[in-house]
Amino acid sequence: MEKKTGWNLDTSYRSLPATFFTLQDPEPVRAPELVVLNEQVAESLGLDAEKLGADVLSGNEIPNGADPLAQAYAGHQFGHFNMLGDGRAVLIGEQITPGGERFDIQLKGGGRTPYSRGGDGRAGLGPMLREHIISEAMHGLGIPTTRSLAVVTTGEPIYRETEQRGAILTRVAASHLRVGTFQFASRFGEVDDLLALADYALERHYPEGIDAPNRYLFLLKEVIKRQAALIAKWQVVGFIHGVMNTDNMTISGETIDYGPCAFMDTYDPKTVFSSIDAQGRYAYGNQPPIAGWNLARFAESLLPILHDEQEESLKLAQNAVLEFPKLYESHWLNGMRAKLGLFNSEEGDRSLAEDLLVLMNKHQADFTNTFRSLTLGREESDLFKTPDYAVWKEQWKERLGRQDETMEASRQRMRTSNPSVIPRNHKVEEALKAAVEEDDLTIMNDLLAVLKDPYAYSSDQEEYCAPPSPSNRPYRTYCGT
Ligand code: AMP
Ligand code: MG
Repeated sequence: MEKKTGWNLDTSYRSLPATFFTLQDPEPVRAPELVVLNEQVAESLGLDAEKLGADVLSGNEIPNGADPLAQAYAGHQFGHFNMLGDGRAVLIGEQITPGGERFDIQLKGGGRTPYSRGGDGRAGLGPMLREHIISEAMHGLGIPTTRSLAVVTTGEPIYRETEQRGAILTRVAASHLRVGTFQFASRFGEVDDLLALADYALERHYPEGIDAPNRYLFLLKEVIKRQAALIAKWQVVGFIHGVMNTDNMTISGETIDYGPCAFMDTYDPKTVFSSIDAQGRYAYGNQPPIAGWNLARFAESLLPILHDEQEESLKLAQNAVLEFPKLYESHWLNGMRAKLGLFNSEEGDRSLAEDLLVLMNKHQADFTNTFRSLTLGREESDLFKTPDYAVWKEQWKERLGRQDETMEASRQRMRTSNPSVIPRNHKVEEALKAAVEEDDLTIMNDLLAVLKDPYAYSSDQEEYCAPPSPSNRPYRTYCGT
């Protein structure tokens, strides 16, 4: 082990057939400077934050034991299949933590690779800080996600619609295996490549399935389970990923690739923030069926190895994929029950939850604040003054009365299930503007501090709860690539 900083790197990915990657060092940058360093993540990785300098976090210096590479993958982007790959990211290696866990350390914005196509391999400061904020917020919310170890500026400009400051984000992930990695293997590789990839994924994320009678079916089913749980968690906090292409869906079940993502303010299933999603393919309400569609692409890519007989393979895949909506629904319903302070289950719970959502939509209520108000027993917004709500509230109270737990226990459950604060779009923009235009990180750091424990209901969170003013709507996000 490297003594000073704590690097303990391995690169198991290199054990895969050569078709899956290209050895590639990050491209050096002119004048790297540290912008944010996540001490908590550094510590969990066994790294000494003080010794992690801008040189290593920009790729100018390669840590001992690193074997940088760019990964090949494919994917359906907005429904269209493309060959992709790490076009602006380099995997430095896999850090083995003091607890024996393995995490990919990737420099996003680390320079051109053979998969860059026309791109410059770089990223901008605004979008990288945005990924930092939102991914840390997701972690605070208890949602599986890649983490952000650091953001550095490169000292070089990048050119998009305007000139921007170049930056690199160090992304930490359980792995960067994607549905698109399997699509790549299935479309462009031999069956042996697919087998090697599936075995690798099992060993890394689902080792309990290695000895299963049909381990590839096991893999398929487990990925479906994890994604069902993940998407339900997104839905119950109002997170909109924005670009759920199959290359942006992990095998580990972590949320990945924070581009045009954003949290919903006013409840509306049709909400879309991304400027490039004109059709609303990735709207809030479409996320569960789109996840199902992506998982069908995953199942398809596994067809050659699920069974020796094609027809049987197809049947196994179809049955597994059909489980997704059921699994998702049950996670979602349990999530909604918790948000409403319910402990047990009753037939009518789905309607109770859905009726509230219908009212929120009808009366244009803020998603997060409605649940926050219910939690606090503060009926502040217009929704609470409507006769519709009075009727719903009666049903809710009766339902609460039909369980053994006390009202106090229900309220406690609501407090731990309904975030008091989310990264509101206007707050994120304010933080980014100060950081990017004025090198002022205070607004971002204050925001990050309240997002660390979104269930705290602390007084310093109050000012982060206000919905955006009309001048801040409709909000638009840009890919920033
Ligand atoms: P994303 O929309 O971030 O999921 O990226 C889709 C694909 O485009 C991936 O293969 C990326 O590596 C690639 N890509 C995005 N931005 C750039 C860039 N600036 N240079 C090269 N490749 C890029
Ligand atoms: Mg991507």
